Formats: sequence, structure tokens, C-alpha cells
Amino acid sequence: MAEAFRDRATPGPVPVLVSGISHDRPITEAMELGVIDDLCVGCSYCLMACKDDALVVEGLCEVILENCTDCLRCLLWCPTGALVYS
Ligand code: SF4
Ligand code: SF4
Repeated sequence: MAEAFRDRATPGPVPVLVSGISHDRPITEAMELGVIDDLCVGCSYCLMACKDDALVVEGLCEVILENCTDCLRCLLWCPTGALVYS
């Protein structure tokens, strides 16, 4: 896993944001958070960052979209840029 981090460690692209009362949110119209499986190394950093039970990591990460509040914590913590809005 350490080798995968070295090879791939790069921040994920942060989507265009709109300012909100509690925090800035991505503009999600026609976009949703997803995982690029080829970049996910199963480290669970995203899981530890998520406060809304919106992620499952069983080998690879999966997003439970109905729980996701678009807080961006996971995306900012993911060391490989595997979490993206598209
Ligand atoms: S954006 Fe926030 S709520 Fe959604 S999966 Fe990531 S950490 Fe969890
Ligand atoms: S999505 Fe990123 S932080 Fe989450 S398990 Fe995969 S590599 Fe780790």
C-alpha cells in the first residue's frame, strides 16, 4: 500500500464550490460523488473523515449517495485522488 501511495499521492480535483451557511458545497447539479476504482487503495482515510455514514470500504470504497451531505471531507482526505465529483 505504501508504494501505491508514493506512486499516486495527489490531491483529488476540488469541484466548483458555492458558499453555504455551514460550509462551502460543490455545485452538484448533474454531478455526484464517486470512486475511481483504479485509484482506490482501500486505506479507509475517507471513511474516518466521513461523519454521515455515507461511505463503505470493503476492499474498495463505495459511496452511499443517499447519506452524502457533500461536505467534501472524504475528497480532501483521500491520498490518491480516488474520490471525485463527475
Ligand atoms: S462528501 Fe462528506 S458526507 Fe459525502 S461521503 Fe464524503 S465525507 Fe461523507
Ligand atoms: S477512496 Fe481514497 S481514502 Fe477512501 S479508501 Fe480509497 S484511496 Fe483510501
